[in-house]
Order: sequence, then C-alpha cells, then structure tokens
Amino acid sequence: MSYSNGYIKDMLAKENYLFELNAGIKVLMFPCLNDNYGYLVHHESSGHTACIDTPDADEIIAQCKKMNWQVTHILNTHHHFDHAGGNERVKNFFNATVYGFIHDKERIPEIDVLLEDLEELNLLGSKIKIFHTPGHTLGHIIYHFPEAKVIFVGDTLFSLGCGRVFEGTMNQMWDSLNLFKKLDPETIIFCAHEYTESNAKFACYIDPDNEKLKKMQQKIINLRKQNMPTLPSTIKVELELNPFLGRNFKNIAQNLGIEGASPEAIFARVRAEKDRF
Ligand SMILES: [Zn+2]
Repeated sequence: MSYSNGYIKDMLAKENYLFELNAGIKVLMFPCLNDNYGYLVHHESSGHTACIDTPDADEIIAQCKKMNWQVTHILNTHHHFDHAGGNERVKNFFNATVYGFIHDKERIPEIDVLLEDLEELNLLGSKIKIFHTPGHTLGHIIYHFPEAKVIFVGDTLFSLGCGRVFEGTMNQMWDSLNLFKKLDPETIIFCAHEYTESNAKFACYIDPDNEKLKKMQQKIINLRKQNMPTLPSTIKVELELNPFLGRNFKNIAQNLGIEGASPEAIFARVRAEKDRF
C-alpha cells in the first residue's frame, strides 16, 4: 500500500505511480497530455486490465509495455477528446472492449457496451458500480469499485474542485456531487486532471477563514514544486475541504452576502465565481 492521507508516499518511478489497493486491485497512474492523468487498473488473477478513459493512446500503450499488461477493457467517463480520443487506437492495439454511457453511444468512439445508471459490472475480479453524474456533460458516468474502495470520477470531481458545468444544469451537477456523501469516507478518489493547485487557490479565496484549507494549500504547493501529483484524494478529505461539496457553505454564503440561500443556489454561485476566477 503506497497510499496514505491523500498523498503519495512511494514512487515506482518519476513518470508513474503504482497503488496496491484492496481486492487485488493495482492502479497505475501516469501524467499525460497537458494536465491529464491516465489510469490503468490491473487484477492479476483474472489478467484483466482496464484503462479509465484514453487521454493519450501512445502513453497508455507504453505504460502497458512497461508493466507487461494488456488492456482488456476501456472504461470511458465521458465523450470529451482528452478522455475518449484514444479509444480507437487502444481498442485496436489490444483488442479491448469499450464501455460508456448508453446515451453517449453516438459520441464515444468505438463504444461496444452501453452502460446505464446504477448498473453493476463484474470485471477485474470486482464489482464495479456505475453512477450517472450529469453536469460536466450530460452523459458523464463514474466507476466505483466498492471492495477496493476506489472511485474514478473523470471530470465530475477534482481535488478541492469540480468540473465545469458545460452541458447539464447547476442543479444536476449539485445532485451529482451529492452522491459522494453516500460513499465510505475512506474511498480513494482518482480524478482525471491535476488541477489541485489552482483549485486550492480558489478554495482559499472563497473560504478565507478555513485554516485547514490553508495548510492543505501549502502541502499542495510543495508537492507541485517537486512536480509530484496531488492525487489521489479521499472522500473524507474532499467532504471536509472541497468548497463545492457544502461543508462550509454557511461561511462561504456569508462571505458572498447570500446568507440563507439554498445549497443549490450557493453551489451555483460558487461555481460561477470559479468560472470567473
Ligand atoms: Zn471533460
């Protein structure tokens, strides 16, 4: 286990990070494109390897070669090019099966298996639960491995932030984010982008009296100075510090002069403030 308190303790190598989780699940995380992370999820005894999205096909293939893994499943979170742009090449290279949300069947290249909200898959020796989280896009889904206590959240949730609301409504995004409150607090969160430093800057701006947040920001700045990832995070850390999840809405609303507003309205305002930040 190379994971503790939201921070990486050990590195396999500078260009990738290996996590050994419960239920025989290994996760290889590697930076790619400008600020994306690619993820390979491996289960030794079934021989299955899933890649979560295909931000960079060449990098996925290179990382697989290093690990001697073969991608058997491509699990797409949403249709954006930095998530599904490598589907065709990765699928053809490994003869893998592509999964995505049913209503995105026209937008996710090479899709084979159409998933629905709350569907459960049995892959990688694990139960994998699908949650539909509209907001960033209308067809966004996330993948929860309850036994390994890990969730791949795409562009729905970021550490100390959340995805931009491009296609859905603010209320849809708020409902999608509320899902995280139902999960085991120890659940490990892998997000699709390294946005934490700028998210921390905004979080400290919108929630300025939060001392824990200030401490967290300093840790994040130090990690990024060494070019280290700030991910994964955990549900516990995000529920406590993420300004989009509601724990500090009372203080935030006061600072914004909207005391007494509904949580949906406060969320919408915080998201709009971040868009302008
Ligand atoms: Zn996206």
